[in-house]
Amino acid sequence: MSKALDSFLSRNLDELKSKGLYNEIDVLEGANGPKITIRGRQLINLSSNNYLGLANDARLKAAAVEATEKYGVGAGAVRTINGTMDIHTELEKKLARFKGTEAAIVFQSGFNCNMGAISAVMTKNDAILSDELNHASIIDGCRLSGAKIIRVKHQDMEDLREKAKEAKLSGLYEKIMYISDGVFSMDGDVANIPGIVEVCKEQDLISYIDDAHGSGVMGHGAGTVKHFGHAKDIDFQMGTLSKAIGVVGGYVAGSQDLIDWLKVRARPFLFSTSLTPANAAACMEAIRIMEEDGSLHDKLWENGRFLKAELKKLGFNIGNSETPITPVIIGEETLTQKFSRRLIEEGVYAKSIVFPTVPMGTGRVRNMPTAAHSREMLEEALRIYERVGKELGVI
Ligand code: PMP
Repeated sequence: MSKALDSFLSRNLDELKSKGLYNEIDVLEGANGPKITIRGRQLINLSSNNYLGLANDARLKAAAVEATEKYGVGAGAVRTINGTMDIHTELEKKLARFKGTEAAIVFQSGFNCNMGAISAVMTKNDAILSDELNHASIIDGCRLSGAKIIRVKHQDMEDLREKAKEAKLSGLYEKIMYISDGVFSMDGDVANIPGIVEVCKEQDLISYIDDAHGSGVMGHGAGTVKHFGHAKDIDFQMGTLSKAIGVVGGYVAGSQDLIDWLKVRARPFLFSTSLTPANAAACMEAIRIMEEDGSLHDKLWENGRFLKAELKKLGFNIGNSETPITPVIIGEETLTQKFSRRLIEEGVYAKSIVFPTVPMGTGRVRNMPTAAHSREMLEEALRIYERVGKELGVI
């Protein structure tokens, strides 16, 4: 290894470790579900984004196996060369219908979808107004586009309006976009879609909602934009296939022209191999289940409401989440990490989230109840929360 790399790595790794900011990655011995096995121990899992429990659903697995038998394990090429199979286009049609748009385009992940879609439309001659708590993939997509990035105070429509007016008046930009998460994953709050639509229309802003945590959760599964009845008013409805849908991939749903453009300009679409056939088929099965049966969605919300109410009763600070995402805000980073470590030792897999993922001093243990958790599992988790909370003086 070069001396420069060696010194860079050891200096920075040591610093992270000494500050308690280095996250060890745990290895799951088996499927991701409401219970997981790590180092031979079964734990109640409150850390996944597998909102509807579909990641290990028998129907999705059967669809994946069937598609593998028919199409093989790989698509063989990037989409534009000869990696587009009928199941890829069928998945896009299903997504568009589900989202209430003319068309959709699928990418290999939510992260590269944001990187590709933002930079396919925005350029150095443009400006992007971006909510200050937006996800890292949005931030990176904005940076990649070369557009001027203007941070907007979290969910502050007046700040958005003022900054949009200022940007327009400057005469410096050809286009201006506003981009926001649909559901903010660290706090569980929901974007003010009606307010966003109003300001975007008034100021002629391109609107982009990353609904990674809203799809399958809000709007009876169809997402935050549809929840507010604005499917035709938001230009980009971006989402992921990796959370509620339980598989992997990302997509944008929007007008036919927008999707046509992304298919010729979004670089991960043009230069990276398409989803595996099994992946595409499992996603279609997940959409079918979500469209035909609301019971998983209802169970998710019931579990979320129960967990939040009981944690609050115990005296934990659970913030202001409007969705099943349930943060338990501890504050100081090392205490947050210790809290999570003790929960895991006692049998609840709930991970700490600290700076730089959330601002310094707002460390939290984030709980993601899913449709697959039984009431008994949540009650057991609450007993452990109470014990550890008292032991560490958090409650
Ligand atoms: N956007 C948001 C808001 C996310 O939370 C995530 C995943 N953490 C992504 C995009 C990236 O999605 P994926 O995991 O499918 O790459």
